[in-house]
Amino acid sequence: MKAKKVLIIGSGPAGYAAAIYTARAGLSPLMISGLEPGGQLTITTDVENYPGYENPIQGPWLMEQMKKQSEAFGTEIVNDYVIDVNFNKFPFEVITEKSIFSSYSVIIATGAKAKWLGIEGEQEFKGYGVSACATCDGFFFKNKSVVVVGGGNTAVEEAIFLSNICKQVTLIHRRNSLRADKILQDRLFDKDNIQVIWNHELKKIIGDSKKKNIQQILIKNVDNQNENTVKLDGLFVAIGHKPATEIFLKKLEIDEDGYIFTKADSTKTNIEGVFAAGDVTDKIYRQAVTAAGMGCMSALEAEKFLSLKKIS
Ligand code: NAP
Repeated sequence: MKAKKVLIIGSGPAGYAAAIYTARAGLSPLMISGLEPGGQLTITTDVENYPGYENPIQGPWLMEQMKKQSEAFGTEIVNDYVIDVNFNKFPFEVITEKSIFSSYSVIIATGAKAKWLGIEGEQEFKGYGVSACATCDGFFFKNKSVVVVGGGNTAVEEAIFLSNICKQVTLIHRRNSLRADKILQDRLFDKDNIQVIWNHELKKIIGDSKKKNIQQILIKNVDNQNENTVKLDGLFVAIGHKPATEIFLKKLEIDEDGYIFTKADSTKTNIEGVFAAGDVTDKIYRQAVTAAGMGCMSALEAEKFLSLKKIS
């Protein structure tokens, strides 16, 4: 099989933006869509912060538009799953469950997944009161009471962000100290409408299945096992993310949290011709619009790389 010029792994906003830009540059990209085509937005409901839409749009619909746009410009999309890569060869080799592809450049846009608690009610009310992204969904709880679970930078940042929108924010942490940076902790403790419940774990989310909203959570004190309920309108699970980088371990430089390392102000990885865009390399912003922006950057960088290599 003839080597491709651009192969994109992953089909979230970063992957589709890379596809649209490289397709319009005449590079005929091939996209391997992965196990969950469309990525994290396909498990979201209302999206209000993607520029260009006055009224809320649905995450799955947005991804469908990106797919259509990518295909309209000539992206070939293969519904397959990458199981291995060989970046020691050039063109690079990308091995999927069904085939082996070779390509002169590779854009990795495999994304990340939020970690979930795995408790009763979480799956049922995901997108209906249970969220893993305050920036995305906080506004739906304006002047309401919300709970954030976790004790890291993300949980504390989300609690602070939500305290500017919501009436009351409760941070629940399973230990008696936070792992978040001191400066963030100071800001958190300064907020009048944030309370912290220490040494508690969530056991269950209780809501109305018909009305599709949540009403309270059952929590347990890890020291004395006493159980209590907390009333709430929204629950934000902020216990970390897992970037989809398993197949790139030992093949690319990966940081201590498992994210693909990219050069400053760039999507270049430590291997020339291999680029990474979106949540697989971004642990700070994690937004559809920033992922799309990075996808665009990776396309422009791949284009430049191919042109310097005189591959057209
Ligand atoms: P994190 O640092 O791994 O913290 C996860 C938190 O969730 C921990 O407090 C952990 O509790 C708790 N947790 C994990 N599993 C749990 C469970 N099953 N039930 C209840 N609690 C659970 O994750 P993160 O806050 O998302 O941050 C990830 C990385 O990104 C970190 O390196 C962080 O510094 C970085 N980050 C940086 C910024 C920034 O610089 N502004 C912002 C966001 C994230 P324990 O403490 O008990 O383990």
